[in-house]
Amino acid sequence: VEFELIERIRRRVARRDDVALGIGDDAALLRVPSGMELVVATDTLNAGVHFPPETAPSDIGWKALAVNLSDLASMGATPAWFTLSLCLPAPDPEWLDAFLDGALALANEHQVSLVGGDTTRGPLSISITALGFVSVGQALRRDGANVGDDVWITGSPGDAAAALSQWRAGHDMDPALRARLDRPTPRLAAGLALRGLAHACIDVSDGLLADLGHVLYASGVGARIDVMHLPFSSALADAFPRIAQRQELQLAGGDDYELCFTAPPDRRGAILDALVACDTAATRIGQVESEPGVRVIGADGALWQGKIVGWDHFAGASR
Ligand code: ADP
Ligand code: MG
Repeated sequence: VEFELIERIRRRVARRDDVALGIGDDAALLRVPSGMELVVATDTLNAGVHFPPETAPSDIGWKALAVNLSDLASMGATPAWFTLSLCLPAPDPEWLDAFLDGALALANEHQVSLVGGDTTRGPLSISITALGFVSVGQALRRDGANVGDDVWITGSPGDAAAALSQWRAGHDMDPALRARLDRPTPRLAAGLALRGLAHACIDVSDGLLADLGHVLYASGVGARIDVMHLPFSSALADAFPRIAQRQELQLAGGDDYELCFTAPPDRRGAILDALVACDTAATRIGQVESEPGVRVIGADGALWQGKIVGWDHFAGASR
């Protein structure tokens, strides 16, 4: 049965010339271009933890790959391959086909090829390792932010968290918000465009403040964020008309997979040009400062008093 499932997967995989040996042997053989560093990211999605249990299998497939490609995007890497470790409650070919519809749609969009994996039985869990490359020394890292840098965010944060909060409250999720939760867009073109421009970069998976906090900590700096500068979607504003509640979702909510990056002010024009060229909106939301920590400035110019909650998988929601 396991063999049949693997065969079902193998039949659908797109070829790449740099895969010397793909699915079918004990390991894959991959050719990394010379002068490049291999970039490797792994993320696991567990049912009920990382997506509502009723999520469509094709959306689970999309998201499982998207969160991994997002990690490559935030490094400024070009994605090439991925492996897929599937733990399934039952060997269900229909579920697998739908899952692959979503995962391979995204893979084909970025010419990424599935080169191996593992198939086991147990509670539904999907673990993907994405592999890509970046020229030696060109990767965007967390530890490069400098005092005086602008803080930027791509897209508009908060939609995915808003959908989740509707779901947790037992409400129907707004379709536009739900689409952002189920099918996040990995900002691969933006990540590539930011090489040589951004000083530091991270993808927002745990929440804007939490993830920006990682960049600041790694860089030994702090920042101020102007909450009134946070871009928001009309779907978010319609669903959460109370401004404080909306802003809380934007600052604390995760699952957006937007890129948060820092760059010196004299590169503002170059950054906007580079991102316009790849159809990615980006907004300046604050400034890097020497004092550690994040200070959120509200509409009145005073320190923001909203409740700010970050997500920690072991501690649960914590301050
Ligand atoms: P082994 O026991 O040697 O690990 P497996 O039966 O686990 O062999 O895997 C056989 C081949 O199928 C390997 O090339 C492996 O990478 C591939 N494979 C197994 N599961 C998956 C999967 N879910 N997706 C892609 N490739 C897979
Ligand atoms: Mg195996």
